[in-house]
Amino acid sequence: MRILVVEDDPVSRKLLQKTLEGWGYEIITAENGQKALDIIMNENLKFVVADWMMPVMDGLTLCRMLRSSKDKGYVYFIMLTGKDKKEDIIEGLKAGVDDYVVKPFDRSELQVRVRAGERILTLEKELTAKNESLQRLNVKLEELVRLDTLTGAGNRLSFYETIEKTHHRACRYAYGYGIIMCDIDNFKLYNDTYGHLAGDNILRRVADSIKSSIRMSDDVFRYGGEEMVITLPDQDMKTTLTVAEKIRDGIESMGIEHRGTAIGILTISCGVAAFDMEKLENKWEDILENADKALYRAKSTGKNRVCS
Ligand code: GH3
Ligand code: MG
Ligand code: MG
Ligand code: MG
Repeated sequence: MRILVVEDDPVSRKLLQKTLEGWGYEIITAENGQKALDIIMNENLKFVVADWMMPVMDGLTLCRMLRSSKDKGYVYFIMLTGKDKKEDIIEGLKAGVDDYVVKPFDRSELQVRVRAGERILTLEKELTAKNESLQRLNVKLEELVRLDTLTGAGNRLSFYETIEKTHHRACRYAYGYGIIMCDIDNFKLYNDTYGHLAGDNILRRVADSIKSSIRMSDDVFRYGGEEMVITLPDQDMKTTLTVAEKIRDGIESMGIEHRGTAIGILTISCGVAAFDMEKLENKWEDILENADKALYRAKSTGKNRVCS
């Protein structure tokens, strides 16, 4: 462990350095508080043994400055001073020193006090590492809780959060947005013909194909079993229809065999709706319902098509 010794008197500084080095510590020295502060900030030092009375900046000021700056993590501070009155000790502790040793120091007393500081810093380091790893896990969990595990698309929770935000933004700034509802055609038959696992694989491929057909600013979610919904911020009906057609065509172009259907390959149907800026009173639920109705029409008029 590295310890910063702060002491203006060269003889005392040397003595303290030798003593601490003898106990296995790596020592860096500074002759006043200002120099110490620079070293602590630049070299990430966590352990300070400092004198009180020093020119330029005294030990008490150094301690106060360290306690008021939060960005460097915890610094363990032992005040080693000739000031031995009870009021001095109280003032030192009030400024935030962790421990107080009176000069001339007793070697074995200083040693146990330095060891105590070392124990606390080790614990603090372990806690910080655990905290950081928990924070990383939390970020991961936040992502996972919004993800559909089968397709890697967003799940319903994520859809609701996104559509709420998109709709709010559209109302506030009079931007448009579009919604596309997609549903795989004759998917029950696909499962019955090729098995449920093959069906799962299709869901993944359909989701990947949709992702490759949309822009970074658009989002795709698994809305139900074999239904996907896409949100398209800043788009109107015309541009949303174009994207829906691109998505539909992308699936058809994969040419996935689907025996028993008229066309012989796997297809999807899409329903499109867009937020109408003239009808600000509309809720996003209304837009979604319109997309759902359009999807129903695409199904009832022959499937493998886009309706709005
Ligand atoms: P339509 O063309 O009218 O949409 O007919 P369809 O057969 O696709 O629709 P239907 O609603 O009758 O059936 C949906 C099927 O989707 C039934 C269900 O087994 C299947 N499905 C839903 N979720 C999953 C899943 O996670 N994996 C698999 N393999 N199949 C699923
Ligand atoms: Mg001094
Ligand atoms: Mg369905
Ligand atoms: Mg279907």
